[in-house]
Amino acid sequence: MADLGGPRARDDLAPATVAVTAGRPPHEPDQPLNTPITMAATYVAGGDLEYGRYANPTWTAFEETLGRLEGGRCLSFASGMAAVTCVLDLVAQGARVVMPRHAYLGSVMSLADLEARGRLTASLVDISDTDAVVAACDGAALVWVETPTNPALEVADVAAIAEAAHAAGAYVVVDNTFATPVLQRPLDDGADVVLHSATKYLGGHSDLLLGAVVTRDDELHDVLLSRRSLTGAVPGAFEAWLALRGLRTLTLRVERAQANARELAERLRGHDAVSEVRYPGFGGIVAIVLEQGPMAADLLCRTTSLWVHATSLGGVESSLERRRRWKTEAPTIPEALVRLSVGVEDVDDLWADLSGALDRLGA
Ligand SMILES: *Cc1c(COP(=O)(O)O)cnc(C)c1O
Repeated sequence: MADLGGPRARDDLAPATVAVTAGRPPHEPDQPLNTPITMAATYVAGGDLEYGRYANPTWTAFEETLGRLEGGRCLSFASGMAAVTCVLDLVAQGARVVMPRHAYLGSVMSLADLEARGRLTASLVDISDTDAVVAACDGAALVWVETPTNPALEVADVAAIAEAAHAAGAYVVVDNTFATPVLQRPLDDGADVVLHSATKYLGGHSDLLLGAVVTRDDELHDVLLSRRSLTGAVPGAFEAWLALRGLRTLTLRVERAQANARELAERLRGHDAVSEVRYPGFGGIVAIVLEQGPMAADLLCRTTSLWVHATSLGGVESSLERRRRWKTEAPTIPEALVRLSVGVEDVDDLWADLSGALDRLGA
């Protein structure tokens, strides 16, 4: 964990500078300031691009920027789940994968599906229990880390897990969707692959689906590039352009969302209708458990006016959701837990809306 603006790219520019300046055309007369959207299924033969499923200059601009923010080489995908699927497919037939029991639901469900079909075996762990994770590394081929987890907000010790996983000969993947490279750079802590749902904070405006992986190892990069080309799990040029536009303000948005989340977590701790507040101390996601149970949680989601009732997270707008409304959510997540994705609005307006709805629950 580093302070905002702290972790430095290998080129020694701070994230705020990289986010704004990377992935642009050269500073030459008549060059546009922004990389254009290249709508192309194919390219004139004889160059490096060849075909629209292999390469696109708009993807490249996004990938260059996110790669520099995370400190590795980036590949963009059609969605976060397209990236998850490609990475899970790295393991050999019958290999064992370790994953947090409270990882993103789609990741846990994909793992369960692959296990049910005999493709691999799965071990679910409490990722904040480092001793248990280290013990589970023995004999594993891939250790999946998500930190903070969704929606339990448990935090993993990435460096300790990476050391144990590497000693066991396993790859380490960190889903960095919640923290973003502004707050956490897992490759610096020893991870082999960083994964993102750019649909969330990186895009930041709830208007696109995109995924990404970042690696330092060239061989791993080439394998993932080949898998992306063969599966066709590639992003649209417009989505890549929007995501790059989102990246330009990433540090500002994360800074503001985090400041709002810290303040709201503090105020929520003093509210009678809330029996538990989970906040890891950084990032823009807060989870609360309602004293009066799941029906009160549903009512809260229906009765706020600024906060919108919707799944997903990481947009400029604040949203909330009772996670157990999904039948497939882990049974260890409390029924009355509401996940808050704190946006960049004025914190007093957000509090007035949320606390008003909480006050009315008791009435
Ligand atoms: C949303 C999400 C994903 C999946 O990404 P999509 O872009 O929705 O496919 C993966 N991991 C985490 C932590 C997420 O929040």
